[in-house]
Amino acid sequence: MAGANQHFDAVVIGAGFSGLHMLKSLRDKLGLKVRVYETGDTVGGTWYWNRYPGARCDSDAYIYCFTWDKQLLQEWEWSERYPEQHEILRYLEHVAKRHDLKRNIQFNTRVTGAEFDENTNLWTVHTDKAEEVTARYLITAVGTLSDTNMPLFKGLEKFKGKWYHTSRFPHAGVDFTGKRVGVVGTGATAVQAIPEIAQQAKQLIVFQRTANYCVPARNGKVDPELVKARKADYEGIVQRIRESFFGQEHYFIPKSVLEATPEERESVFDRMWDAGGFAFWLANYQDMFFSQEANDVCADYIKRKIRSTVKEPRTAEKLIPKGHAYGTKRQPLDTNYYETFNRDNVLLVDAKIDGGIEEITETGIRAGGKEYPLDIIVFATGFDAMTGPLKALNLKGRGGRTLDLEWQDGPHTYLGVAIAGFPNLFTITGPQSPSVLSNMPVSIEQHVEWITDCIESMRKNGKTSIEATPSAQDQWVAHVNEIVSATLMTTANSWYMSANIAGKPRAFLPYLGPEGVGGYRKKCDEIAAKGYEGFELA
Ligand code: NAP
Repeated sequence: MAGANQHFDAVVIGAGFSGLHMLKSLRDKLGLKVRVYETGDTVGGTWYWNRYPGARCDSDAYIYCFTWDKQLLQEWEWSERYPEQHEILRYLEHVAKRHDLKRNIQFNTRVTGAEFDENTNLWTVHTDKAEEVTARYLITAVGTLSDTNMPLFKGLEKFKGKWYHTSRFPHAGVDFTGKRVGVVGTGATAVQAIPEIAQQAKQLIVFQRTANYCVPARNGKVDPELVKARKADYEGIVQRIRESFFGQEHYFIPKSVLEATPEERESVFDRMWDAGGFAFWLANYQDMFFSQEANDVCADYIKRKIRSTVKEPRTAEKLIPKGHAYGTKRQPLDTNYYETFNRDNVLLVDAKIDGGIEEITETGIRAGGKEYPLDIIVFATGFDAMTGPLKALNLKGRGGRTLDLEWQDGPHTYLGVAIAGFPNLFTITGPQSPSVLSNMPVSIEQHVEWITDCIESMRKNGKTSIEATPSAQDQWVAHVNEIVSATLMTTANSWYMSANIAGKPRAFLPYLGPEGVGGYRKKCDEIAAKGYEGFELA
């Protein structure tokens, strides 16, 4: 399949959930000639790379899947409420095989750059295999959390043991048996990995910079009767998640938590806590994200849970989040996370109380003036979210403009799917779309459908170029920022706020629309119905 100077109708970058669906849609619905480039040696994206112990989805599997293959919705059996990484990868492999997708995917190939030619309205795409191909449309399906954040820890090169980043974990796994292991980070990834590693390691030392609010996942087998009922109602489910706020079957309680009596809210909190999953985050009282006073009431419930679970009071205090409102950072779902700190072989080193990481030495980590000897270090330090993977593509738009320059003060997009100055470029789940604030497959499908319809309409109307206008983009950026500024989300040093990467301009990355993914879908459809309002078609 490799070969220079080929021309495609569309080049898609990435073969995860987004790339697979985009390929299927453009190739089989519109009959386009499509090439997908993928760095990995098979499909899967996030689920190919993130192989750390405990990696599993955080959305219920019955909605964490493609909804466009109605038959597969009926046929596929998930083994648990939140299947493990290898099971989701097996599902994506199955989809690729079932729809014969691999024949249009070139694996082991990284896109190293692409530039738009204003004379031909074509993109020229370069790869690390010295290929150069042209395409009318360039579609990024690179994921939002795929650009690894590996902070420059002083002395790392001296470390004589082994170290790994969770997002690039060895395919063969890592044997922690009998080892002294350090985990750096306590985000959603570490919260999944820590209880698993603790069961194997001789000693586990967790280096925490910021404590997180974790709620129980409550993973397990799903009652076969519930599975049957869901399969019988898939049409209804799909419609509901598409129209919902977060792409989930979760709905806020239309009431202030401050209006509820203490008994009433305690029983509501208990119900959500026992249900597990994102309910406590996404189906809580509606003012939780807006009022600090309301938020404190919800946060207090979790703090009490931490204190009653963690036996050693000083460790419990370290695990109590301080300095950010509940829900303003991505909710980690835990399975025995807090319980893990009751184990004799687990130690928590908190940056504020014990001192932060000063350096990595030949034999371990030095923090707060104390050396912690380690055989293995696992960095669960996250990603340069949303903008990172797009900037890494080295795109050159009209007049050679680059995202590094255009996005110096944060992302500027129109609807999160297009960028002024970058014609015929579509960014699936790009910055300033609901994306990471939703159940990802729902947002991916919405973008793929919208992009497919847009290209179909252009072809019918003899258009060869589409580009967001700067004024529509400016209005969208202002709208994204205005909406979020009314919430507590902007007060946290989260990766949503670009605050996890040194030097990254502080900006809210996704879109928290007033009506969530449902409202965003409506908005995108209205724009299309008005002849792609805010875009210039040529
Ligand atoms: P993350 O949420 O960004 O957490 C990174 C952790 O590393 C934080 O505790 C952070 O501390 C710490 N850290 C970063 N740089 C550090 C430094 N220089 N020194 C010390 N500590 C440092 O990353 P993540 O846990 O990989 O999760 C990222 C996202 O991936 C999640 O929010 C979620 O959206 C997604 N995810 C999804 C699933 C799923 O659906 N199954 C599972 C895992 C992750 P600070 O908090 O102080 O910055």
